[in-house]
Amino acid sequence: MSVAAPNQSTSPLFRPVATLWGVGPERAAQLARLEIRTIEDLLLHRPRRYEDRRHFRPIAELQLDEPAITHGAVVALGVKWFKQHTKSIFELILDDGSARLHCRWWNLPFMEKYFAVGDEVVVFGKLGSVKPRTIDHPETEIVETGEESLIHLNRITPIYPLTEGVTQRWLRALIWRTVQAFESKIQEPWLLDPRRSTLASFLTRSQAIHLIHFPEALEDIERARRRLTLDEFIELQLRVQLRRKNLQTKARAIPCGGDNHLIKPFLKGLGFKLTEAQTRVLRELRKDLAGTQPMRRLLQGDVGSGKTVVAACAALMALESGHNVAVMAPTEILAEQHFLNFSHWFEPLGVRIALRTSSHKANSRVEGPGSSDITRASSAVTLFVGTHALIASGFTADNLGLVIIDEQHKFGVTQREQLVRKGLYPHLLVMTATPIPRTLGLTLYGDLDLSTIDTLPPGRGRIQTFLRTADKLPEVWSFVRSKLREGRQVYVVYPRVEETGENGLKSVTREFDTLKQTLAPYQIGLVHGRLASREKEATMGAFRANKFQVLLATSLIEVGVDVPNATVMLIENAEQFGLAQLHQLRGRVGRGAHDSYCILVASAKTKEARQRLRVLEETTDGFRIAEADLKLRGPGELLGQEQSGAPRFRFGDLSGDLALIEQARDIAAQIGAM
Ligand code: ADP
Ligand code: MG
Repeated sequence: MSVAAPNQSTSPLFRPVATLWGVGPERAAQLARLEIRTIEDLLLHRPRRYEDRRHFRPIAELQLDEPAITHGAVVALGVKWFKQHTKSIFELILDDGSARLHCRWWNLPFMEKYFAVGDEVVVFGKLGSVKPRTIDHPETEIVETGEESLIHLNRITPIYPLTEGVTQRWLRALIWRTVQAFESKIQEPWLLDPRRSTLASFLTRSQAIHLIHFPEALEDIERARRRLTLDEFIELQLRVQLRRKNLQTKARAIPCGGDNHLIKPFLKGLGFKLTEAQTRVLRELRKDLAGTQPMRRLLQGDVGSGKTVVAACAALMALESGHNVAVMAPTEILAEQHFLNFSHWFEPLGVRIALRTSSHKANSRVEGPGSSDITRASSAVTLFVGTHALIASGFTADNLGLVIIDEQHKFGVTQREQLVRKGLYPHLLVMTATPIPRTLGLTLYGDLDLSTIDTLPPGRGRIQTFLRTADKLPEVWSFVRSKLREGRQVYVVYPRVEETGENGLKSVTREFDTLKQTLAPYQIGLVHGRLASREKEATMGAFRANKFQVLLATSLIEVGVDVPNATVMLIENAEQFGLAQLHQLRGRVGRGAHDSYCILVASAKTKEARQRLRVLEETTDGFRIAEADLKLRGPGELLGQEQSGAPRFRFGDLSGDLALIEQARDIAAQIGAM
């Protein structure tokens, strides 16, 4: 990502690195492996850490297990071989006058040729033992005295990510020379009077680039990072703004506000009253759907908060207005469930419903039970339900007024945009049960308006969450049996479909027979991603109808599945899943009036993992869980593997830079207003 404004496209910073002194074709190829192609890329190559080489620790003062920087002269070195010349240790002994330090590397005998007696070596690492003082696998750098040592010694020294053939010294010297030569040419990228904006409190970009590499004080590093982060976020915000602006100027909304003639009977027949939060969100949706610009809205609400019925009302508004609607879900199971739900709800209203997934092609006429009646229905509008196969198969619906995407976190930004192109700027409602931490809301979803269902429908049983080690499984199973005896149903989730040889991870296909025995006489169904859709649908249908009391599944059932009589969610190898994902799985229970239970079984060995899982024992607040997950595993994991739109930053951190994101948004708005 380029961070300079377009007016700088003639800037010397955009020249290839090969135009620099000392960078030939071979060096340029090496740098390209570090994603350094232009001079600007080089200037933005972020140090992965810094060493304060103004203060070395004398070798005699190194503390056990504490990372430290020291240096000394090589007094001896050599390789020891053992196990019939198959294993080796390379050892380097340094002396700084205070004591001697042994540095050791296993099975890297070629390192011997990099060092010679008398070399001055800087060492960074943790002392592993004191007699003799030893550091295993430290990071080292040979330093020379003389002019160049100004760059590498007696300063806070940057340590960069490297690639084969590129050494710290060479890269640091190159960056040093490049900063010297180009810092005066680094302009402020934003055409703003810096004195009149928030920018005034930041370093200039030129200062920041200098200090990110060669800070004078330790505080300079964070000050520099903040400025460079701000620029990244401003650029992203400008792009988000542009997308919105394009939509606003180019697209005229299709009027989809409706006239209530379908919603009224729908709500009457529903069997429950909408919560206040649902009603409020519906008002927001109606305003958008009746407005002059196409709706672009993200609806978030924790699992079980009742997003589907809200989506149904939005769909009815568009249908009432005479336009078709498409509902997309990430899995066939969920699409199928929506199809059943919506058929049940909408058939009495005379709305035609069509399922479109890879196994239900347009011509296969699966209009659901009683479809002949529906086809005769007076309304010519159709609700299409499908998976994202809808996109792949080149699905087009004429007269598409509204697109609803359920469980947005499984779709990327690009997919979102693809579908919209199928129609003529239909309204777009995306729904997610993974609460979006605000940082992501403002970046990844920055072009969407936000609605939140913040309360759960009344009359729900409690969900209790327990964390157990695998040795407690016998008790867990007897608890499960007691719930089955009470007439409840149970989900059992394992991380794998088939045995993969990984240590101790359970797979549903291998455990199926064992589980049948453990839980006999209760019936067990099995679903996972490698079954044909027909089989999956049949099993889900049977589970819904209580023909199976236990459903053994992979995390495939994570999203959307709604079987209120199921009250136990048992997840083994729980450490394999992200927190947000476990929260989703837990959301499959607690959907009826009975008390529900989520039992997480994690192996006793993974202490850290169990620590992480405690968050789920402590809270059912999806926001807290998502924040924790974002911190621990990053946005890619939180949003799912399929997420293709997660922005990548050199300097920005989506789990911690909320204030900067907000400032960037303000600044981008000022820039946009000029
Ligand atoms: P999610 O937000 O996770 O998609 P669903 O839409 O699947 O949640 O709703 C969960 C369950 O709650 C469904 O069985 C639904 O019929 C029910 N439900 C939704 N709204 C209400 C309400 N206002 N009162 C009672 N039950 C409701
Ligand atoms: Mg849902």
